[in-house]
Amino acid sequence: MPILRFKALEETLNRVPVKINEPHKRSDIFGLNVFNTTIMQQALTKDAFESLKNAVDKGSKIDRTIADQIAVAMKNWAISKGVTHYTHWFQPLTGATAEKHDSFFEILDNGTALEKFEGNQLVQQEPDASSFPNGGLRNTFEARGYTAWDPTSPAFIYGSTLCIPTVFVSYTGEALDYKTPLLKALHVVDKAAVAVARYFDKSVKKVNASLGIEQEYFLIDSALAKSRPDIILTGRTLLGHSSAKGQQLDDHYFGTIPNRAMAFMRDLETECMLLGIPLKTRHNEVAPNQFEIAPVFEEANLAVDHNALLMDVMKKIAERHQFTVLFHEKPFANVNGSGKHNNWSLSTDTGINLLSPGKTPMSNLQFLTFFINTIKAVQDNEALLRASIASASNDHRLGANEAPPAIMSVFIGQQLNKVLLELEGVTKGKLSPKEKTDLKLNVIGKIPEILLDNTDRNRTSPFAFTGNKFEFRAVGSSSNCANSMTVLNTIVAKQLVDFKTEVDNLIDNKDMKKDDAIFNILREYIKNSKQILFDGNGYSNDWEKEAKKRNLSHNKTTPQALKIKLKKESISIFENLGILNSTEIKARFDIELEGYVKHIQIESRVLGDIARNHVVPTAIKYQNILLKNVNGLKSIYNHDFKIHATAQLSLIEEISQHVEAINTTITLMINARKKANKLSDLTKKADLYANDVKPFFDIIRKHCDKLELLIDDELWPLTKYRELLFIK
Ligand code: ADP
Ligand code: MG
Repeated sequence: MPILRFKALEETLNRVPVKINEPHKRSDIFGLNVFNTTIMQQALTKDAFESLKNAVDKGSKIDRTIADQIAVAMKNWAISKGVTHYTHWFQPLTGATAEKHDSFFEILDNGTALEKFEGNQLVQQEPDASSFPNGGLRNTFEARGYTAWDPTSPAFIYGSTLCIPTVFVSYTGEALDYKTPLLKALHVVDKAAVAVARYFDKSVKKVNASLGIEQEYFLIDSALAKSRPDIILTGRTLLGHSSAKGQQLDDHYFGTIPNRAMAFMRDLETECMLLGIPLKTRHNEVAPNQFEIAPVFEEANLAVDHNALLMDVMKKIAERHQFTVLFHEKPFANVNGSGKHNNWSLSTDTGINLLSPGKTPMSNLQFLTFFINTIKAVQDNEALLRASIASASNDHRLGANEAPPAIMSVFIGQQLNKVLLELEGVTKGKLSPKEKTDLKLNVIGKIPEILLDNTDRNRTSPFAFTGNKFEFRAVGSSSNCANSMTVLNTIVAKQLVDFKTEVDNLIDNKDMKKDDAIFNILREYIKNSKQILFDGNGYSNDWEKEAKKRNLSHNKTTPQALKIKLKKESISIFENLGILNSTEIKARFDIELEGYVKHIQIESRVLGDIARNHVVPTAIKYQNILLKNVNGLKSIYNHDFKIHATAQLSLIEEISQHVEAINTTITLMINARKKANKLSDLTKKADLYANDVKPFFDIIRKHCDKLELLIDDELWPLTKYRELLFIK
């Protein structure tokens, strides 16, 4: 009998016969717990397999009898691996993943017990999921929400459960999850990109958005994490003085991975391999205890599912290793926060990465077409892109002193800037044969160089071209990437549709040749996209000023950033392409804003509680010790006691000042909260939380952190940064 690798934790166990200590290649176990193409091919009849494949590739419908066949094959495969339950696995607007398990087990009328799973259970379910955020799309009387199978993301076994990726929609058809609009956006960008790619190659039939998500995170010893109510309740430290040693020596970044962290990573990688998550890279990040993990890129919908699953697996595996994993964007002050770099590109079914500079003039023109259109899409929709990554926790990076800034800009590097300048310089109208040759040669000559030029990559840029893909770096480490990827793919789709219309117009009505028409439109775009291009230091004040001159938005807070979503022009982009209707957009806006308010409200309560009930009493306790000491000195030295008690007396004084400041500020903060809570207008309420409640956090924190430095270490009730941040 094979020994199961992880016996202890039933629910996090992946039932696969990997023997303990038995060496194995990653490729041997990759995808063993995924109902993937190979397994499907073996388990399904030819018809069923073809039908499923068409559904995946072309979005065609699967009929009932075929669904039954697939369900039975899935069930048999899962049961053979020790699975007892199944669940529709979905991503409601809470940001976490959701599951409701049902057993395959059933009893027939005659009392026979057996395992059953049929097409209708595979295809659709009605979880009683009325408590997920819906922004008023359902009230509890009409609580029906449906989950429906997404065949483009394969089913997988997680613990003892078969998970079927699904979308989550209301009874009346509105999207209640992250996946539904993402799938729609991927569909429209596919159609729009195919239409444009066919200018260059008529055989292109499908374009996939590809996505590789780098995930940053912190690992904290779980016993220590549990000693901090702020970490437990808010995912970050609300106070805590910096450790004398932080990241200033740069000794953690890319350093040797600590043994405990390594054991966690190996365990995690094994589980992810089984689940078909293609993890490839692991390394230390800049801050102490901060790490990064990255998979090989995949089709965007799958990559988003895999990232959501990865976060869940990470939490579970961390528990096994007595770690708490923190996905918060800024868990510790004064050391780097975490992000989730979204590496994004478009690639054709003919195997071409459309954002990869080519070797021939035509393929370079194709590259430039997609490259420039993406830049133009970001230029025209920078505020929407900023809104797509807005959250209370990401505000700590974007609005504050942390990479990257809240201003969206695109970094393309010197070489490509030069290429664009030259393209722009070409005379108006038809290109002369010489210009064509020059231009093409120039383009070919220069682009490949940037691939070699690895230093030319501005780390402070929120949206950077990195050789063969764009990297959207401003996405928050705790977010579900579907949101930002829905917006990015939608705005690029819109841009490509507009581009095609303009080019066709020149060809049809101005009698221009295809290449010339493309050149002409691209040149106009270059002229109009200058505002968004920025290669300098994104952290500097100069950039803030410059960005203002360029009319780029600079929304530091989430409530400010989200406003753009309700503008008529924004709504029409999503409505016209069929991604989200105005009701859905409004509902999402409310959910996000409400989420923001709740988030700040919880932090404010926790901070008030810790400061008043942990810090202040400790300060007073220590002050009493000092007072006792001073009194003792007085009894020995009489009038001379002050000479011997100078330090004590000034400490007593200082403590009183901080205690007083903390107390007053908390009262002010609570009053601000009360005022905000009375407002029924959500937008105004969120603004008050951002502008009137949150600013008190820093003041309270400052005084608490000062007290941490003054008070006897033995008395201090909270685990300190230096203890939290340096795992061995
Ligand atoms: P870094 O940006 O840290 O230098 P890499 O360039 O190796 O790292 O890639 C980071 C991520 O980008 C990986 O997940 C990788 O798979 C992904 N990536 C590479 N090429 C593409 C592409 N064409 N489309 C989407 N993601 C890609
Ligand atoms: Mg990167």
